[in-house]
Amino acid sequence: MEYAIETFNLKKYFGDIHAVDGIDLKIPKGYLYGVLGPNGAGKTTTIRMLSTILYPTDGEATVLGFNLRKEASEIRKRIGVCPQELVIYPRLTARENIHLIAQMHGIIKKDYKERTDDLLGRMNLLDRADSLSKTYSGGMKRRLNVLMAVIHEPELIFFDEPTAGLDPQSRRVVWDFIKEFQERDSTIILTTHNMEEADDLSDELLIFDYGKIIAKGTPSELKGKLGEGDIIEFKISNPEKRDEVIELATKLDFVRWGKSVGKRRILLNALDGLRRISDIMDVVKVEMKDLSVRENTLEDVFIDLTGRRLRD
Ligand code: ATP
Repeated sequence: MEYAIETFNLKKYFGDIHAVDGIDLKIPKGYLYGVLGPNGAGKTTTIRMLSTILYPTDGEATVLGFNLRKEASEIRKRIGVCPQELVIYPRLTARENIHLIAQMHGIIKKDYKERTDDLLGRMNLLDRADSLSKTYSGGMKRRLNVLMAVIHEPELIFFDEPTAGLDPQSRRVVWDFIKEFQERDSTIILTTHNMEEADDLSDELLIFDYGKIIAKGTPSELKGKLGEGDIIEFKISNPEKRDEVIELATKLDFVRWGKSVGKRRILLNALDGLRRISDIMDVVKVEMKDLSVRENTLEDVFIDLTGRRLRD
């Protein structure tokens, strides 16, 4: 198998902060890897190292077959990076912004003119393509930011939270856009805090926590590890009852496991959860506040691994 990215014990320390603390990765060409993890877990630092913006503290990596430390300029030509922060020039139009980047990549005018219109159309930006980008809405700026990462048709694209702060409609436009690259066999690394996005788009997922990769697999493999059954989530008023409630509930034969998140929140995994809630209530004898029942999500996978929520 050909790998777009291989890392061997890759590390980045900032003084005492172990932002990335030894990661070993093998990302096959043509795959979309979703990267999940709480704030500060090391996702952006990893992307910045792999896209040659930051020099690693230790460890080795190859990107598209090139050595990260010795062949950074070869890597740079072949990758696209859509960073979390906007990198558009507010006093230029969308079209001018994209042309500028295309020229920086040495693409000939005839090629980039056609590509620019095609890209602007796919992101619903064509009708405003000649207005200054400082007049755009937040969502339009973000969509332009995404386009600027791909004008040179990179083999490997890093999208760092490309849909952060977008409304559902714009989010869907960006998802469809990313899916098109997936179909063209580009390799994509996508960091996100959106579980639906991670679940829907990723071929494989990496979950980061404290600078390490704590889980990897397809979304269904990861969710499958939690077993069958529904997640029943609720809060209790008295935190002192928390462990007792979990103990009583997990004695029921249809409750597979119970976990606490913080002092008051409890998660139970139960077969046929929706219909069995009243049976659980009879046994635990506490009021269940903010009660919800759902299928396993990637958030539950993270809770299972760490006892915390992805966004606390
Ligand atoms: P988020 O989801 O908030 O984007 P993240 O997983 O991308 O988080 P990073 O931005 O990689 O996390 O940060 C990892 C850790 O490294 C954090 O503790 C952060 O404060 C620290 N860090 C990142 N860049 C620097 C820097 N230039 N100098 C010092 N510390 C840094």
